[in-house]
Amino acid sequence: MRRWNGWGDELIGDDLSAGGAGAIERVVGPASPPRDATLTDVLAGVPASRLPRHRLVVDDAETRVRHARGQSFPDWVALRSGRLGAVPDGVAFPNDRAEVRDLLAWAEALGARVVPYGGGTSVVGGVTPATDGSPWLTVSLAHTAGLRTIDTGSLLATFGAGTAGPDVEAALRARDLTLGHYPQSWELSTVGGWVATRSAGQQSLGYGGIEALFAGGTVEAPAGTLEMPSHPASAAGPDLRQVILGSEGRLGILTAAVLRVAPLPSRETFPTFFLPDWERALGFTRALARARLPLAMVRTSTPAETWTNLVLAGHERTLAALRRYLTARGAGPGRCMVLLGLVGQRRVMAATFAEVLAIAHAFDAVRAPATFGRQWQRSRFRTPYLRNTLWAAGYGIDTLETAVAWDRVPAIAASLAPVIRRGLAGDDERVHAFTHLSHVYPTGSSLYTTFVFRLAHDPDVTLERWRRLKATASVAIVRLGGTISHQHGVGSDHAGYLVAEKGELGMAALGDLARRFDPAGIMHPGVLLSDAR
Ligand SMILES: Cc1cc2nc3c(=O)[nH]c(=O)nc-3n(C[C@H](O)[C@H](O)[C@H](O)COP(=O)(O)OP(=O)(O)OC[C@H]3O[C@@H](n4cnc5c(N)ncnc54)[C@H](O)[C@@H]3O)c2cc1C
Repeated sequence: MRRWNGWGDELIGDDLSAGGAGAIERVVGPASPPRDATLTDVLAGVPASRLPRHRLVVDDAETRVRHARGQSFPDWVALRSGRLGAVPDGVAFPNDRAEVRDLLAWAEALGARVVPYGGGTSVVGGVTPATDGSPWLTVSLAHTAGLRTIDTGSLLATFGAGTAGPDVEAALRARDLTLGHYPQSWELSTVGGWVATRSAGQQSLGYGGIEALFAGGTVEAPAGTLEMPSHPASAAGPDLRQVILGSEGRLGILTAAVLRVAPLPSRETFPTFFLPDWERALGFTRALARARLPLAMVRTSTPAETWTNLVLAGHERTLAALRRYLTARGAGPGRCMVLLGLVGQRRVMAATFAEVLAIAHAFDAVRAPATFGRQWQRSRFRTPYLRNTLWAAGYGIDTLETAVAWDRVPAIAASLAPVIRRGLAGDDERVHAFTHLSHVYPTGSSLYTTFVFRLAHDPDVTLERWRRLKATASVAIVRLGGTISHQHGVGSDHAGYLVAEKGELGMAALGDLARRFDPAGIMHPGVLLSDAR
Protein backbone atom coordinates (compact mmCIF):
# COMPACT_ATOMS: atom_id res chain seq x y z
CA MET A 1 0.00 0.00 0.00
CA ARG A 2 1.12 3.55 -0.73
CA ARG A 3 2.45 5.53 2.26
CA TRP A 4 -0.01 8.24 3.26
CA ASN A 5 2.70 10.54 4.67
CA GLY A 6 5.86 9.72 2.72
CA TRP A 7 7.20 8.32 -0.50
CA GLY A 8 6.17 5.08 -2.17
CA ASP A 9 5.15 1.62 -1.12
CA GLU A 10 5.03 0.96 2.64
CA LEU A 11 6.81 -2.36 2.17
CA ILE A 12 9.86 -0.78 0.54
CA GLY A 13 12.52 0.77 2.75
CA ASP A 14 15.92 2.18 1.96
CA ASP A 15 18.40 1.64 4.73
CA LEU A 16 21.09 4.23 5.09
CA SER A 17 24.46 2.51 5.41
CA ALA A 18 26.30 3.11 8.69
CA GLY A 19 28.94 5.01 6.69
CA GLY A 20 26.29 7.15 5.02
CA ALA A 21 24.48 7.93 8.28
CA GLY A 22 27.78 8.81 9.97
CA ALA A 23 28.76 11.12 7.10
CA ILE A 24 25.45 13.03 7.19
CA GLU A 25 25.76 13.39 10.95
CA ARG A 26 29.32 14.72 10.65
CA VAL A 27 28.33 17.29 8.03
CA VAL A 28 24.95 18.46 9.33
CA GLY A 29 25.08 17.50 13.01
CA PRO A 30 23.40 14.80 15.11
CA ALA A 31 19.61 14.72 14.82
CA SER A 32 16.55 13.04 16.22
CA PRO A 33 13.22 12.72 14.43
CA PRO A 34 10.17 14.79 15.37
CA ARG A 35 7.09 12.87 16.52
CA ASP A 36 4.91 11.99 13.53
CA ALA A 37 1.12 12.26 13.76
CA THR A 38 -0.69 8.97 13.26
CA LEU A 39 -3.21 8.50 10.46
CA THR A 40 -5.89 7.95 13.11
CA ASP A 41 -5.13 11.36 14.71
CA VAL A 42 -5.22 13.07 11.35
CA LEU A 43 -8.47 11.43 10.27
CA ALA A 44 -10.11 12.47 13.53
CA GLY A 45 -9.49 16.14 12.65
CA VAL A 46 -10.98 16.08 9.14
CA PRO A 47 -14.06 18.32 8.94
CA ALA A 48 -17.31 17.15 7.33
CA SER A 49 -17.51 17.54 3.58
CA ARG A 50 -19.28 20.65 2.28
CA LEU A 51 -20.22 18.92 -0.98
CA PRO A 52 -23.56 17.19 -1.58
CA ARG A 53 -23.54 13.54 -2.62
CA HIS A 54 -22.52 12.60 -6.17
CA ARG A 55 -22.21 9.06 -7.49
CA LEU A 56 -18.58 9.66 -8.63
CA VAL A 57 -17.42 11.45 -5.49
CA VAL A 58 -15.97 9.74 -2.42
CA ASP A 59 -15.96 11.79 0.78
CA ASP A 60 -14.62 9.52 3.52
CA ALA A 61 -11.89 11.14 5.60
CA GLU A 62 -9.12 8.72 4.57
CA THR A 63 -9.59 9.16 0.82
CA ARG A 64 -9.65 12.92 1.30
CA VAL A 65 -6.48 12.93 3.41
CA ARG A 66 -4.68 10.66 0.93
CA HIS A 67 -5.41 13.21 -1.83
CA ALA A 68 -4.83 16.37 0.21
CA ARG A 69 -1.14 16.86 -0.44
CA GLY A 70 1.63 16.10 -2.90
CA GLN A 71 5.32 15.49 -2.23
CA SER A 72 6.75 18.98 -1.68
CA PHE A 73 8.67 19.63 1.53
CA PRO A 74 5.78 21.69 3.00
CA ASP A 75 3.48 18.79 2.05
CA TRP A 76 5.68 16.43 4.04
CA VAL A 77 5.74 18.73 7.07
CA ALA A 78 1.95 19.03 6.93
CA LEU A 79 1.41 15.27 6.66
CA ARG A 80 4.03 14.26 9.22
CA SER A 81 2.94 16.83 11.79
CA GLY A 82 -0.77 16.22 11.18
CA ARG A 83 -1.28 19.97 10.60
CA LEU A 84 -2.84 19.36 7.24
CA GLY A 85 -4.66 22.64 6.67
CA ALA A 86 -7.18 22.34 3.85
CA VAL A 87 -8.40 18.90 2.83
CA PRO A 88 -10.54 18.40 -0.30
CA ASP A 89 -14.24 18.07 0.44
CA GLY A 90 -14.46 15.12 -1.88
CA VAL A 91 -12.43 13.07 -4.35
CA ALA A 92 -14.06 12.23 -7.68
CA PHE A 93 -13.07 9.19 -9.75
CA PRO A 94 -14.45 9.72 -13.28
CA ASN A 95 -14.07 6.85 -15.75
CA ASP A 96 -14.20 8.82 -18.98
CA ARG A 97 -14.38 12.28 -20.49
CA ALA A 98 -18.19 12.45 -20.29
CA GLU A 99 -17.98 11.93 -16.53
CA VAL A 100 -15.26 14.59 -16.30
CA ARG A 101 -17.58 17.04 -18.09
CA ASP A 102 -20.41 16.12 -15.75
CA LEU A 103 -18.21 16.75 -12.70
CA LEU A 104 -16.98 20.11 -13.99
CA ALA A 105 -20.56 21.28 -14.55
CA TRP A 106 -21.57 20.00 -11.11
CA ALA A 107 -18.65 21.75 -9.40
CA GLU A 108 -19.30 25.01 -11.24
CA ALA A 109 -22.98 24.99 -10.27
CA LEU A 110 -21.97 24.53 -6.62
CA GLY A 111 -19.26 27.20 -6.69
CA ALA A 112 -16.67 24.52 -5.88
CA ARG A 113 -12.99 24.62 -6.91
CA VAL A 114 -11.49 21.73 -8.86
CA VAL A 115 -8.02 20.20 -8.49
CA PRO A 116 -6.99 17.66 -11.17
CA TYR A 117 -4.97 14.87 -9.52
CA GLY A 118 -2.65 12.42 -11.31
CA GLY A 119 -0.15 10.61 -9.11
CA GLY A 120 0.08 13.32 -6.45
CA THR A 121 3.88 13.57 -6.86
CA SER A 122 3.97 17.34 -7.36
CA VAL A 123 6.89 18.88 -5.48
CA VAL A 124 5.66 22.47 -5.86
CA GLY A 125 2.34 22.43 -4.00
CA GLY A 126 0.50 21.43 -7.19
CA VAL A 127 -2.35 19.37 -5.69
CA THR A 128 -3.00 21.22 -2.45
CA PRO A 129 -6.43 22.79 -1.96
CA ALA A 130 -6.62 26.27 -0.45
CA THR A 131 -8.75 27.63 2.39
CA ASP A 132 -10.74 30.22 0.46
CA GLY A 133 -14.23 29.52 1.77
CA SER A 134 -15.30 27.41 -1.24
CA PRO A 135 -15.73 23.64 -1.24
CA TRP A 136 -12.83 21.88 -3.05
CA LEU A 137 -13.24 18.86 -5.28
CA THR A 138 -10.16 16.84 -6.21
CA VAL A 139 -10.62 14.95 -9.48
CA SER A 140 -8.43 11.85 -9.59
CA LEU A 141 -7.78 10.46 -13.07
CA ALA A 142 -6.94 7.02 -11.63
CA HIS A 143 -9.96 5.30 -13.22
CA THR A 144 -9.04 6.55 -16.69
CA ALA A 145 -5.75 4.60 -16.58
CA GLY A 146 -4.83 2.24 -19.39
CA LEU A 147 -3.80 1.94 -23.00
CA ARG A 148 -6.70 3.01 -25.24
CA THR A 149 -5.38 2.56 -28.77
CA ILE A 150 -2.06 1.87 -30.39
CA ASP A 151 -0.86 2.45 -33.94
CA THR A 152 2.39 0.51 -34.13
CA GLY A 153 2.98 1.60 -37.74
CA SER A 154 2.91 5.29 -36.77
CA LEU A 155 4.43 4.73 -33.30
CA LEU A 156 1.51 6.51 -31.59
CA ALA A 157 -0.14 5.22 -28.43
CA THR A 158 -3.14 6.75 -26.67
CA PHE A 159 -3.27 6.43 -22.88
CA GLY A 160 -5.85 7.50 -20.34
CA ALA A 161 -4.40 10.48 -18.43
CA GLY A 162 -4.28 8.61 -15.13
CA THR A 163 -1.89 5.90 -16.38
CA ALA A 164 1.22 5.69 -14.16
CA GLY A 165 4.76 5.16 -15.47
CA PRO A 166 5.10 1.39 -14.85
CA ASP A 167 1.73 0.72 -16.54
CA VAL A 168 2.68 2.83 -19.57
CA GLU A 169 5.92 0.88 -19.99
CA ALA A 170 4.32 -2.52 -19.33
CA ALA A 171 1.70 -1.93 -22.04
CA LEU A 172 4.31 -0.75 -24.52
CA ARG A 173 7.01 -3.31 -23.73
CA ALA A 174 4.49 -6.09 -24.37
CA ARG A 175 4.61 -4.81 -27.97
CA ASP A 176 8.41 -4.25 -28.08
CA LEU A 177 7.91 -0.51 -27.72
CA THR A 178 8.85 2.07 -25.09
CA LEU A 179 8.01 5.66 -24.20
CA GLY A 180 11.44 6.15 -22.61
CA HIS A 181 10.04 8.73 -20.16
CA TYR A 182 11.51 8.04 -16.73
CA PRO A 183 11.15 10.88 -14.23
CA GLN A 184 12.51 9.78 -10.88
CA SER A 185 8.89 9.77 -9.69
CA TRP A 186 8.05 7.27 -12.49
CA GLU A 187 6.64 4.69 -10.08
CA LEU A 188 3.70 6.97 -9.16
CA SER A 189 3.46 9.89 -11.58
CA THR A 190 1.03 9.77 -14.50
CA VAL A 191 0.69 10.74 -18.15
CA GLY A 192 -1.65 13.65 -17.33
CA GLY A 193 0.67 14.95 -14.60
CA TRP A 194 3.69 14.73 -16.93
CA VAL A 195 1.95 16.83 -19.58
CA ALA A 196 0.48 19.29 -17.09
CA THR A 197 3.92 19.95 -15.55
CA ARG A 198 6.17 19.68 -18.65
CA SER A 199 8.01 16.81 -17.07
CA ALA A 200 11.48 15.60 -18.12
CA GLY A 201 12.64 12.01 -17.70
CA GLN A 202 16.14 10.81 -16.85
CA GLN A 203 16.75 9.83 -20.49
CA SER A 204 15.27 12.96 -22.06
CA LEU A 205 18.50 13.54 -24.01
CA GLY A 206 17.65 10.48 -26.07
CA TYR A 207 13.86 10.30 -26.03
CA GLY A 208 12.99 13.96 -25.45
CA GLY A 209 11.05 15.51 -22.58
CA ILE A 210 7.26 15.12 -22.43
CA GLU A 211 6.89 18.17 -24.69
CA ALA A 212 8.49 16.09 -27.48
CA LEU A 213 6.53 12.93 -26.63
CA PHE A 214 3.07 14.48 -26.28
CA ALA A 215 1.53 14.30 -29.76
CA GLY A 216 -2.05 15.32 -28.96
CA GLY A 217 -5.03 14.50 -26.79
CA THR A 218 -8.25 15.74 -25.24
CA VAL A 219 -8.83 18.36 -22.57
CA GLU A 220 -12.17 18.91 -20.89
CA ALA A 221 -12.47 22.51 -19.72
CA PRO A 222 -15.42 24.28 -18.11
CA ALA A 223 -15.83 26.22 -21.40
CA GLY A 224 -15.75 23.16 -23.66
CA THR A 225 -13.62 20.39 -25.11
CA LEU A 226 -10.22 20.93 -26.72
CA GLU A 227 -9.12 18.22 -29.15
CA MET A 228 -5.47 18.34 -30.16
CA PRO A 229 -4.82 16.22 -33.27
CA SER A 230 -1.60 14.20 -33.40
CA HIS A 231 -0.16 15.32 -36.74
CA PRO A 232 3.54 14.53 -37.12
CA ALA A 233 4.02 18.27 -37.71
CA SER A 234 1.81 21.23 -38.52
CA ALA A 235 2.28 24.83 -39.62
CA ALA A 236 -1.38 25.61 -39.02
CA GLY A 237 -0.85 28.46 -36.60
CA PRO A 238 0.25 28.29 -32.96
CA ASP A 239 0.50 24.81 -31.48
CA LEU A 240 -2.22 24.41 -28.84
CA ARG A 241 -0.39 21.48 -27.26
CA GLN A 242 2.09 24.08 -26.00
CA VAL A 243 -0.77 25.82 -24.20
CA ILE A 244 -1.71 22.63 -22.38
CA LEU A 245 1.88 21.53 -21.64
CA GLY A 246 2.68 23.12 -18.27
CA SER A 247 -0.89 24.35 -17.69
CA GLU A 248 -0.97 22.55 -14.29
CA GLY A 249 -4.72 21.98 -14.30
CA ARG A 250 -5.55 25.69 -14.64
CA LEU A 251 -7.20 25.33 -18.05
CA GLY A 252 -8.98 22.01 -17.74
CA ILE A 253 -8.48 18.30 -17.31
CA LEU A 254 -6.49 16.26 -19.80
CA THR A 255 -8.40 13.00 -20.10
CA ALA A 256 -6.30 11.19 -22.72
CA ALA A 257 -2.94 11.76 -24.39
CA VAL A 258 -1.49 10.45 -27.63
CA LEU A 259 2.19 9.72 -27.04
CA ARG A 260 5.05 9.23 -29.50
CA VAL A 261 6.61 5.90 -28.67
CA ALA A 262 9.81 4.23 -29.87
CA PRO A 263 10.99 0.71 -30.63
CA LEU A 264 12.34 -0.95 -27.49
CA PRO A 265 16.14 -0.64 -27.65
CA SER A 266 18.04 -3.89 -27.83
CA ARG A 267 20.57 -2.68 -25.21
CA GLU A 268 21.01 -0.10 -22.46
CA THR A 269 24.28 0.68 -20.70
CA PHE A 270 25.25 3.38 -18.25
CA PRO A 271 29.04 3.88 -18.41
CA THR A 272 30.56 6.04 -15.67
CA PHE A 273 33.60 8.30 -15.73
CA PHE A 274 35.46 10.25 -13.07
CA LEU A 275 36.99 13.60 -14.03
CA PRO A 276 39.86 15.07 -12.00
CA ASP A 277 38.08 18.34 -11.21
CA TRP A 278 34.90 20.36 -11.85
CA GLU A 279 36.36 22.43 -14.70
CA ARG A 280 37.20 19.32 -16.68
CA ALA A 281 33.89 17.67 -15.78
CA LEU A 282 32.04 20.73 -17.09
CA GLY A 283 34.16 20.81 -20.25
CA PHE A 284 33.54 17.09 -20.85
CA THR A 285 29.78 17.52 -20.36
CA ARG A 286 29.52 20.49 -22.68
CA ALA A 287 31.63 18.79 -25.33
CA LEU A 288 29.34 15.75 -25.21
CA ALA A 289 26.24 17.95 -25.50
CA ARG A 290 27.68 19.88 -28.44
CA ALA A 291 28.75 16.73 -30.25
CA ARG A 292 25.03 15.82 -30.51
CA LEU A 293 25.85 12.16 -30.03
CA PRO A 294 22.88 9.78 -29.71
CA LEU A 295 23.28 9.56 -25.93
CA ALA A 296 20.23 9.05 -23.74
CA MET A 297 21.65 10.69 -20.62
CA VAL A 298 24.53 12.75 -19.28
CA ARG A 299 24.57 13.40 -15.55
CA THR A 300 27.52 15.25 -14.06
CA SER A 301 28.05 15.63 -10.32
CA THR A 302 30.07 18.36 -8.62
CA PRO A 303 32.79 17.20 -6.18
CA ALA A 304 30.34 17.64 -3.26
CA GLU A 305 27.70 15.46 -4.94
CA THR A 306 30.29 12.89 -6.02
CA TRP A 307 31.49 12.63 -2.42
CA THR A 308 27.90 12.31 -1.17
CA ASN A 309 26.99 9.62 -3.73
CA LEU A 310 30.03 7.61 -2.80
CA VAL A 311 29.53 7.78 0.97
CA LEU A 312 25.82 6.96 0.67
CA ALA A 313 26.68 3.96 -1.49
CA GLY A 314 28.31 2.47 1.62
CA HIS A 315 30.68 -0.51 1.36
CA GLU A 316 33.66 1.23 2.97
CA ARG A 317 36.27 -1.28 1.75
CA THR A 318 35.10 -1.17 -1.87
CA LEU A 319 35.03 2.62 -1.76
CA ALA A 320 38.52 2.85 -0.29
CA ALA A 321 39.79 0.65 -3.14
CA LEU A 322 37.96 2.79 -5.71
CA ARG A 323 39.40 6.00 -4.23
CA ARG A 324 42.93 4.57 -4.42
CA TYR A 325 42.34 3.48 -8.02
CA LEU A 326 40.96 6.90 -9.07
CA THR A 327 43.62 8.87 -7.21
CA ALA A 328 46.38 6.80 -8.86
CA ARG A 329 44.87 7.77 -12.23
CA GLY A 330 44.67 11.48 -11.46
CA ALA A 331 41.09 11.78 -10.16
CA GLY A 332 41.85 12.82 -6.56
CA PRO A 333 39.63 14.44 -3.90
CA GLY A 334 38.17 17.02 -6.36
CA ARG A 335 36.88 14.18 -8.55
CA CYS A 336 33.53 14.50 -10.34
CA MET A 337 31.35 11.63 -11.46
CA VAL A 338 29.78 11.66 -14.93
CA LEU A 339 27.17 9.03 -15.67
CA LEU A 340 26.16 8.45 -19.29
CA GLY A 341 23.27 6.55 -20.81
CA LEU A 342 23.65 4.68 -24.08
CA VAL A 343 20.52 3.16 -25.44
CA GLY A 344 19.85 1.60 -28.81
CA GLN A 345 21.16 -0.83 -31.34
CA ARG A 346 24.52 -2.44 -30.63
CA ARG A 347 26.43 -1.06 -33.64
CA VAL A 348 25.24 2.53 -33.17
CA MET A 349 26.08 2.30 -29.46
CA ALA A 350 29.60 1.02 -30.23
CA ALA A 351 30.25 3.90 -32.64
CA THR A 352 28.85 6.42 -30.14
CA PHE A 353 30.98 5.04 -27.34
CA ALA A 354 34.11 5.30 -29.47
CA GLU A 355 33.36 9.03 -29.88
CA VAL A 356 32.69 9.36 -26.15
CA LEU A 357 36.05 7.76 -25.34
CA ALA A 358 37.86 10.19 -27.64
CA ILE A 359 36.22 13.18 -25.91
CA ALA A 360 36.81 11.62 -22.48
CA HIS A 361 40.52 11.26 -23.26
CA ALA A 362 40.77 14.99 -24.05
CA PHE A 363 39.47 15.80 -20.54
CA ASP A 364 41.55 13.17 -18.65
CA ALA A 365 38.47 11.18 -17.70
CA VAL A 366 38.98 7.89 -15.87
CA ARG A 367 36.53 5.11 -16.71
CA ALA A 368 34.91 3.50 -13.67
CA PRO A 369 34.08 -0.21 -13.39
CA ALA A 370 30.80 -1.18 -15.10
CA THR A 371 29.26 -2.05 -11.71
CA PHE A 372 28.70 1.69 -11.13
CA GLY A 373 26.28 2.03 -14.03
CA ARG A 374 24.58 -1.25 -13.18
CA GLN A 375 24.10 -0.16 -9.57
CA TRP A 376 22.58 3.16 -10.72
CA GLN A 377 20.25 1.32 -13.11
CA ARG A 378 19.10 -1.04 -10.33
CA SER A 379 18.44 1.71 -7.80
CA ARG A 380 17.31 4.57 -10.06
CA PHE A 381 13.77 4.63 -8.68
CA ARG A 382 14.82 3.74 -5.12
CA THR A 383 16.51 7.07 -4.37
CA PRO A 384 13.22 8.84 -3.43
CA TYR A 385 12.79 6.26 -0.64
CA LEU A 386 15.81 7.86 1.02
CA ARG A 387 13.51 10.75 1.94
CA ASN A 388 11.62 8.40 4.30
CA THR A 389 14.85 7.08 5.80
CA LEU A 390 16.38 10.49 6.35
CA TRP A 391 13.19 11.83 7.94
CA ALA A 392 13.19 8.89 10.35
CA ALA A 393 16.76 9.87 11.27
CA GLY A 394 15.77 13.52 11.84
CA TYR A 395 16.85 15.08 8.54
CA GLY A 396 14.91 16.86 5.80
CA ILE A 397 15.98 16.65 2.18
CA ASP A 398 14.78 18.62 -0.82
CA THR A 399 15.88 19.41 -4.35
CA LEU A 400 15.55 22.48 -6.49
CA GLU A 401 16.31 22.82 -10.13
CA THR A 402 16.82 25.32 -12.91
CA ALA A 403 18.26 25.55 -16.43
CA VAL A 404 20.56 28.13 -18.01
CA ALA A 405 22.68 28.65 -21.12
CA TRP A 406 26.20 27.24 -20.92
CA ASP A 407 27.76 30.67 -20.33
CA ARG A 408 25.88 30.88 -17.01
CA VAL A 409 26.25 27.28 -15.90
CA PRO A 410 29.60 27.84 -14.11
CA ALA A 411 28.24 30.80 -12.09
CA ILE A 412 25.05 28.99 -10.99
CA ALA A 413 26.89 25.74 -10.30
CA ALA A 414 29.42 27.64 -8.18
CA SER A 415 26.92 29.69 -6.20
CA LEU A 416 23.71 27.71 -5.56
CA ALA A 417 25.04 25.10 -3.14
CA PRO A 418 27.18 27.63 -1.16
CA VAL A 419 24.21 30.05 -0.89
CA ILE A 420 22.08 27.23 0.51
CA ARG A 421 24.85 25.99 2.83
CA ARG A 422 24.98 29.46 4.43
CA GLY A 423 21.18 29.75 4.51
CA LEU A 424 20.71 28.75 8.17
CA ALA A 425 23.96 30.12 9.56
CA GLY A 426 21.99 32.64 11.65
CA ASP A 427 20.41 29.70 13.52
CA ASP A 428 23.71 27.91 13.93
CA GLU A 429 22.33 25.14 11.72
CA ARG A 430 24.49 23.48 9.08
CA VAL A 431 23.15 22.52 5.65
CA HIS A 432 24.69 20.00 3.27
CA ALA A 433 24.08 21.01 -0.36
CA PHE A 434 25.36 19.53 -3.59
CA THR A 435 24.66 19.94 -7.30
CA HIS A 436 24.58 17.98 -10.52
CA LEU A 437 23.91 18.78 -14.16
CA SER A 438 21.54 16.65 -16.19
CA HIS A 439 19.17 17.05 -19.13
CA VAL A 440 21.97 18.68 -21.09
CA TYR A 441 21.29 20.54 -24.32
CA PRO A 442 23.66 21.88 -26.98
CA THR A 443 22.84 25.39 -25.69
CA GLY A 444 22.83 24.80 -21.94
CA SER A 445 21.96 22.52 -19.07
CA SER A 446 19.64 22.04 -16.16
CA LEU A 447 21.13 22.04 -12.66
CA TYR A 448 19.83 20.24 -9.58
CA THR A 449 20.79 21.21 -6.09
CA THR A 450 19.87 18.88 -3.26
CA PHE A 451 20.05 20.00 0.36
CA VAL A 452 19.92 18.16 3.66
CA PHE A 453 19.25 19.89 6.98
CA ARG A 454 18.08 19.03 10.46
CA LEU A 455 14.39 18.83 11.26
CA ALA A 456 13.26 20.71 14.35
CA HIS A 457 10.84 19.14 16.80
CA ASP A 458 8.46 22.03 16.14
CA PRO A 459 7.05 21.69 12.57
CA ASP A 460 6.74 25.48 12.26
CA VAL A 461 10.48 25.84 12.86
CA THR A 462 11.24 23.12 10.29
CA LEU A 463 9.00 24.84 7.75
CA GLU A 464 10.60 28.19 8.46
CA ARG A 465 14.06 26.67 7.89
CA TRP A 466 12.94 25.22 4.56
CA ARG A 467 11.25 28.49 3.51
CA ARG A 468 14.45 30.43 4.10
CA LEU A 469 16.55 27.94 2.14
CA LYS A 470 14.04 27.78 -0.70
CA ALA A 471 13.63 31.57 -0.91
CA THR A 472 17.38 32.22 -0.80
CA ALA A 473 17.98 29.71 -3.59
CA SER A 474 15.00 30.84 -5.71
CA VAL A 475 16.07 34.49 -5.52
CA ALA A 476 19.62 33.45 -6.50
CA ILE A 477 18.28 31.44 -9.46
CA VAL A 478 16.23 34.37 -10.76
CA ARG A 479 19.12 36.84 -10.18
CA LEU A 480 21.51 34.59 -12.10
CA GLY A 481 19.12 34.34 -15.05
CA GLY A 482 17.90 30.77 -14.53
CA THR A 483 14.37 29.50 -15.08
CA ILE A 484 12.43 29.00 -11.86
CA SER A 485 11.85 25.41 -12.94
CA HIS A 486 13.34 23.14 -15.58
CA GLN A 487 10.83 20.35 -14.94
CA HIS A 488 9.06 20.39 -11.58
CA GLY A 489 6.68 23.15 -12.62
CA VAL A 490 5.34 26.21 -10.87
CA GLY A 491 2.55 25.04 -8.55
CA SER A 492 1.98 27.41 -5.67
CA ASP A 493 5.58 27.37 -4.42
CA HIS A 494 7.06 29.05 -7.52
CA ALA A 495 4.05 31.15 -8.60
CA GLY A 496 5.53 34.36 -7.19
CA TYR A 497 8.69 33.99 -9.29
CA LEU A 498 6.96 33.41 -12.63
CA VAL A 499 6.62 37.07 -13.57
CA ALA A 500 10.43 37.37 -13.65
CA GLU A 501 10.38 34.93 -16.57
CA LYS A 502 7.13 35.71 -18.37
CA GLY A 503 6.93 39.48 -17.89
CA GLU A 504 3.77 41.52 -17.24
CA LEU A 505 2.30 40.98 -20.72
CA GLY A 506 3.04 37.27 -20.59
CA MET A 507 1.33 36.93 -17.20
CA ALA A 508 -1.68 38.89 -18.43
CA ALA A 509 -1.92 36.62 -21.49
CA LEU A 510 -1.83 33.54 -19.28
CA GLY A 511 -4.58 35.05 -17.12
CA ASP A 512 -6.69 35.72 -20.25
CA LEU A 513 -6.18 32.15 -21.38
CA ALA A 514 -7.33 30.82 -18.01
CA ARG A 515 -10.48 33.00 -18.19
CA ARG A 516 -11.23 31.77 -21.74
CA PHE A 517 -11.03 28.08 -20.75
CA ASP A 518 -12.58 28.60 -17.33
CA PRO A 519 -14.74 31.76 -17.15
CA ALA A 520 -15.95 31.12 -13.58
CA GLY A 521 -12.42 30.50 -12.28
CA ILE A 522 -13.10 27.08 -10.76
CA MET A 523 -9.93 25.36 -12.03
CA HIS A 524 -7.25 25.06 -9.41
CA PRO A 525 -6.82 28.71 -8.34
CA GLY A 526 -3.48 29.40 -6.69
CA VAL A 527 -1.22 27.30 -8.88
CA LEU A 528 0.75 28.73 -11.77
CA LEU A 529 -0.87 32.19 -11.53
CA SER A 530 -0.66 33.46 -7.95
CA ASP A 531 -4.21 34.73 -7.72
CA ALA A 532 -6.12 33.02 -4.99
CA ARG A 533 -4.12 32.06 -1.91
C1 LIG B 1 10.83 11.93 -5.62
C2 LIG B 1 10.38 12.74 -6.79
C3 LIG B 1 11.14 12.75 -7.95
C4 LIG B 1 10.73 13.51 -9.04
N1 LIG B 1 11.47 13.46 -10.19
C5 LIG B 1 11.04 14.13 -11.29
C6 LIG B 1 11.75 14.02 -12.51
O1 LIG B 1 12.76 13.32 -12.61
N2 LIG B 1 11.27 14.70 -13.57
C7 LIG B 1 10.13 15.45 -13.49
O2 LIG B 1 9.71 16.02 -14.50
N3 LIG B 1 9.46 15.58 -12.34
C8 LIG B 1 9.86 14.93 -11.25
N4 LIG B 1 9.17 15.03 -10.07
C9 LIG B 1 7.98 15.91 -10.00
C10 LIG B 1 6.65 15.23 -10.36
O3 LIG B 1 6.77 13.84 -10.30
C11 LIG B 1 6.22 15.66 -11.76
O4 LIG B 1 5.82 17.02 -11.71
C12 LIG B 1 5.10 14.80 -12.36
O5 LIG B 1 4.97 15.15 -13.72
C13 LIG B 1 3.76 14.97 -11.67
O6 LIG B 1 2.91 13.94 -12.15
P1 LIG B 1 1.67 13.44 -11.28
O7 LIG B 1 0.90 12.50 -12.11
O8 LIG B 1 2.11 12.95 -9.97
O9 LIG B 1 0.86 14.80 -11.14
P2 LIG B 1 0.22 15.45 -9.84
O10 LIG B 1 1.26 15.64 -8.80
O11 LIG B 1 -1.00 14.71 -9.44
O12 LIG B 1 -0.21 16.87 -10.43
C14 LIG B 1 0.75 17.80 -10.82
C15 LIG B 1 0.05 18.99 -11.49
O13 LIG B 1 -0.57 18.57 -12.69
C16 LIG B 1 -1.98 18.74 -12.64
N5 LIG B 1 -2.57 17.56 -13.28
C17 LIG B 1 -2.35 16.26 -12.98
N6 LIG B 1 -3.05 15.47 -13.82
C18 LIG B 1 -3.70 16.28 -14.67
C19 LIG B 1 -4.58 16.09 -15.77
N7 LIG B 1 -4.92 14.86 -16.17
N8 LIG B 1 -5.08 17.17 -16.41
C20 LIG B 1 -4.75 18.44 -16.02
N9 LIG B 1 -3.93 18.68 -14.99
C21 LIG B 1 -3.41 17.63 -14.33
C22 LIG B 1 -2.31 18.87 -11.15
O14 LIG B 1 -3.48 19.60 -10.94
C23 LIG B 1 -1.06 19.58 -10.64
O15 LIG B 1 -1.14 20.95 -10.88
C24 LIG B 1 9.55 14.29 -8.96
C25 LIG B 1 8.78 14.25 -7.79
C26 LIG B 1 9.20 13.48 -6.72
C27 LIG B 1 8.36 13.45 -5.49
